[in-house]
Amino acid sequence: MGIESDFIWMDGVLLPYDQAVVPFLTSGLHYGIAVFEGIRCYPTGRGPAIFRLNEHMTRLVESAKILGFRSLPYNPGDLSRAAVELVRANGFASCYIRPLIYLSSPKLNLSIDDGQPRTGIACWEWGNIYGPDFLKNGVRANISSYTRHHPNIAMTKAKISGNYANSILAKTESERLGFDEAIMLDPQGYVAECTGENLFVVHDGQISTPPLAAILEGITRDALIHLAADLGYSITERMMGRDMLYTADEVFVCGTAAEVVAVREIDFRPIGNGQIGSITADIQKAFYEVVGGTHPRSDGWLTYVSG
Ligand code: PMP
Repeated sequence: MGIESDFIWMDGVLLPYDQAVVPFLTSGLHYGIAVFEGIRCYPTGRGPAIFRLNEHMTRLVESAKILGFRSLPYNPGDLSRAAVELVRANGFASCYIRPLIYLSSPKLNLSIDDGQPRTGIACWEWGNIYGPDFLKNGVRANISSYTRHHPNIAMTKAKISGNYANSILAKTESERLGFDEAIMLDPQGYVAECTGENLFVVHDGQISTPPLAAILEGITRDALIHLAADLGYSITERMMGRDMLYTADEVFVCGTAAEVVAVREIDFRPIGNGQIGSITADIQKAFYEVVGGTHPRSDGWLTYVSG
């Protein structure tokens, strides 16, 4: 499974994959002046369906505003329609969708105002980032030696491409150490999030998750908060030290690419009994029902590609 597809949508036009290229002298490439989204399209009984498409495109436009773009040629509705058109054109039953707005500038300086935003959307077939075994058995994580962003240094509410150098440092270190994922602490030392996932902790049947102030407001996180409440679980936002992870009964992480995955070990300490916990399993099951189109919340959260 590669990242190829027949078409990539670029500034309103469906281009053959090989023609969707950007010039070497692009600010987005040199300085990470770009914003992006990760969205999933799932197979359902009514054909491919995109999970929370409008929320993702809204966050994309908000990321662009946070980065400093003052006007954009497309609104979230336009971008959602473009994503549907793209998935349909490529004929995928399920895929990952990657929109990106990048700065194209005649000067390679450090200001946004000298250039124009350009928009592309790609999609490709992509399974869970950890793979099916991890979905069943959970992943092993470390507490990263890298600190998560300070919200007045990098804008943590925005998916700005340049911000992801921090995630890449942490993820690469984690994998080189033999773990699957890195958990990152904020500049005060409290648990923040993972490299591309939000995190939940279970103690004595109560679910907690770090507060929103300094993390990306994950759309999967929001969905799981609703699903956990539907299932009757109590869920609160609270600051946590890393020691609260070590003593948890269950830890799980979520994101578009990761979906919902248990963390079975952190820094060589088993979490709970070292297997996926019952609350994690319940929430994971509800999530897959939603994206599979068989949950009462499915219709509210899915955009069916066939209309
Ligand atoms: N935190 C970070 C840093 C991320 O990159 C992501 C992935 N977008 C998430 C959390 C999870 O967000 P979502 O559920 O919207 O994919």
